[in-house]
Amino acid sequence: MRRKLTWVVLAIAIATPFIIKYLLSLQKSPELDSSGFVNLTDVVPDAIIEARYFGTYNFVGARIDGYLEPVVLYTREAAEALRAVSDDVKARGYRLKVYDAYRPQCAVDHFVRWGKDLADSMMRQYFYPDEEKAYLFERGYIAERSGHTRGSAIDLTLFDMATGKELDMGGVHDWFGIESHPDYGGNPETGEYTGGVQITEEQFRNRMILREAMLRHGFKPYDCEWWHFSLADEPYPDTYFNFPVQTLGK
Ligand SMILES: [Zn+2]
Repeated sequence: MRRKLTWVVLAIAIATPFIIKYLLSLQKSPELDSSGFVNLTDVVPDAIIEARYFGTYNFVGARIDGYLEPVVLYTREAAEALRAVSDDVKARGYRLKVYDAYRPQCAVDHFVRWGKDLADSMMRQYFYPDEEKAYLFERGYIAERSGHTRGSAIDLTLFDMATGKELDMGGVHDWFGIESHPDYGGNPETGEYTGGVQITEEQFRNRMILREAMLRHGFKPYDCEWWHFSLADEPYPDTYFNFPVQTLGK
């Protein structure tokens, strides 16, 4: 009898950690599940990473909530499509320079908090000299939700391997203004430069090189930002993730 009891106790002792682990996995919300994501540079090793929201050179002027390491995370499907873009532009003498891709909801919440604090305009001269901070929500520069949080959007530019510099796009990433619109100075559908504004033909054409390469490999553009694209067939269209940006699989 005692022997049988010992076996029962032993069986419970062995099984308990597995049962707890199973129950915890049931509790894990989909927003915290990073299993469909990759470290971008594992799939696109030629990409240059400049994690703007991990650093302080961004429109807030501080490290953004949820960015724990200077890495970029992306859904596997979007990363594989981006690999094709990278190979495409590399053959033309360029590399992709990535500023941000997956962005946790807590980071978007940080932007919203900053947007409501009208007294804080530390970085205005660099990113929005012509815009009143009070209008940033109204004009759509800041919103409560971002496509980046679904994991398949990306902000990037082109780096010219011959000159060792970024291509001149006639404006910086996260510039709040119409100068960032892809149709500023031309027609992005036809690639025709119309001019008459503060962007040269070369700058307009440089934006088009990036845009056309992204569109060739399954990405769609955004009307307000020349640097923003998202995978047309995104794998998580309804999930706003909220796990932190740090190296996966460590
Ligand atoms: Zn973006």
